[in-house]
Amino acid sequence: MYQSGVQQLIRWPLTGMSMYIDSSSQLHHDLEKNLVVTCPHCQAVAHITPSAVPRFEDLQLYRPKQVGLVYLCDACHMPIFLRFTVRVYGATRIELSPQFTEVERAREKFSFAYIPEGVELLFREALACFSQGAFNAFASMCRRTAQAMFADLGEAGKLRLFDELNAVRELANIAPEIFTKMRNVLFGAELDIRTPLPLLDGYEAGIMLEVVKDLLYEAYVRRGKLQQAMMVRRFFLEETGSHIAPIKSAS
Ligand SMILES: [Zn+2]
Repeated sequence: MYQSGVQQLIRWPLTGMSMYIDSSSQLHHDLEKNLVVTCPHCQAVAHITPSAVPRFEDLQLYRPKQVGLVYLCDACHMPIFLRFTVRVYGATRIELSPQFTEVERAREKFSFAYIPEGVELLFREALACFSQGAFNAFASMCRRTAQAMFADLGEAGKLRLFDELNAVRELANIAPEIFTKMRNVLFGAELDIRTPLPLLDGYEAGIMLEVVKDLLYEAYVRRGKLQQAMMVRRFFLEETGSHIAPIKSAS
C-alpha cells in the first residue's frame, strides 16, 4: 500500500540465490529475471538489464566493500545505478550480496494544485528529502509543512486536521507506536515548542508520507476541486441566463 521504494531494497527471497562477477568480468545472477525497480526516469515499475559491470582485475586490486553496476531500464532505456555489497573476493569470482541500494531513487510525486504556496514550498522539500532516503530530514520538513498548514487554516482548521489524523489511523489501521510518532512530528510542537522530533526509519517515513498527502488532500485539494466544480456550474448557469437576457430588450 505504501509504495516508498524502500521496500524494493529487500525484494528477493534470502535463500538459494547467487550473484557474482567472474574472472572475465561477466556478471552472473540467478534471479536476474526478477530484477525490478521503480525507474527514477520514467517512473515505471520495470525490469532492468545489466549494461556495465566493473572489471574483475580492478576490483581484485582495490577490493572495495561495495561495487556499482549500471543497468538499463527496459521501459525507457535510461541508465540506472545500483550499489551492491561484496560478500567474498574469491580467486575466480567476486560474490555480491543480492540486496542493493538504488543510487538514484524515483522521485515522489504529488499534485500541488490548490495547495497554498508556503505549504507547497515546504512539502516539496519534504518530498526531496524522502526521495533521497533522508527520512529524519523528511520528518522535520513534515513538521514545518504542518506548521504552515496550521498558520494558513487557523485554530479551527488545526483541530479539523487533528480529527482527520485520528480518522486516518482507523482507516489505514496504523500501528499505535507509529501513530504516536506521527502525531508527535505533526502536532508535538503545538503543545510544547521544545517537543523533540522522534526518529523515523524508512518504513515509518513511508507511512508518514501517505498520511501527510492525505491531510493535504483533505485540507485543500478536496475543497478546491469542489469549489471549482461549483464555479463551473455557476458559469454555465449564467451563460444560459445571458443568452435569454437580450430577448426582453428588443426595441
Ligand atoms: Zn525507465
